[in-house]
Amino acid sequence: MKPAPFDYVRAESLEEALAALREGGDDAKPIAGGQSLVPALAMRLVRPSMLVDLNLAGLDTVSANGALRLGATVRQAALANDERVHPLLRAALPYVGHFVTRNRGTVGGSIAHADGAAELPLCLVTLDGLVVVDGPDGRREIPAADFFVTHFTTTLRPGELVVETAWPVASGETCAFEEFALRTGDFAQSMACSVLTRDHSGAIVRAVVAVGAVVDRPTRLVEVEELLVGSQGNEAAAEAGALAARLVEPAGSLHASARYLRALTGTLVTRAIERAA
Ligand code: FAD
Repeated sequence: MKPAPFDYVRAESLEEALAALREGGDDAKPIAGGQSLVPALAMRLVRPSMLVDLNLAGLDTVSANGALRLGATVRQAALANDERVHPLLRAALPYVGHFVTRNRGTVGGSIAHADGAAELPLCLVTLDGLVVVDGPDGRREIPAADFFVTHFTTTLRPGELVVETAWPVASGETCAFEEFALRTGDFAQSMACSVLTRDHSGAIVRAVVAVGAVVDRPTRLVEVEELLVGSQGNEAAAEAGALAARLVEPAGSLHASARYLRALTGTLVTRAIERAA
């Protein structure tokens, strides 16, 4: 299929892009790497009357001052070998599509697209990152946990753009990312992250355990985190996985039953805890 007709605006600045979106109203859409939007256009799942191209100077910056701040159009592939990137995100990146899609796909696009099975949103929530947006109401910073509402739905307001994401830098915690997809490059059937902080005796003092794909948005499993605190991790990993399997309520599909996805998630959570421990 081919996209429905649309006007194309190549903005030269963020201000120009925001103005074009304001002018285009609900019918205008920003395009970044196009790795999700172009297939949707071709299948006529979306029919914007205007596309505003965000591939403009100033939105692709990377800066590190306390947190790692990634401009919206930083390509996913650009992070793979950057030592400043949190090891959890570096571990997840190879699972994001294929290297060809990562060469074009952007960090901001993945965050804004908010696919429940996307790795970058899950990592940003796990790491307590921030989403920086700009638009008619000016610039605001949104904690990642408050940004994702449900599949493909965020707290972005009309005319707003994701302009940056802020990622905490590693500071002594251990972490692991686990995912299972039917084929390499497919979206995940389930995925799990764990980030463990421990005291001098090795006991866990803070645990973050989050899952994706089997939920409608990146979701922390607080009961699992509470179970881990005070343990060394390994001895509690199996019990934590079993609890995770009970906590998620995946919808089955022709590819996998809900029962299978629960068990898969439990296994991935156990593995993520054991590897982080
Ligand atoms: P685009 O496709 O340009 O835009 C995506 C959506 O976000 C559009 O609605 C657009 O209007 C909006 N948008 C883009 N940038 C902004 C912004 N700055 N502010 C506000 N709105 C914005 N992704 C995964 O996470 N995991 C996978 O396993 C995976 N597998 C893939 C396999 C294939 C074959 C393909 C083609 C894609 C796959 N993707 C996967 C998607 C890919 O990672 C996309 O790059 C990503 O989802 C969107 O990034 P983008 O820059 O291409 O955004």
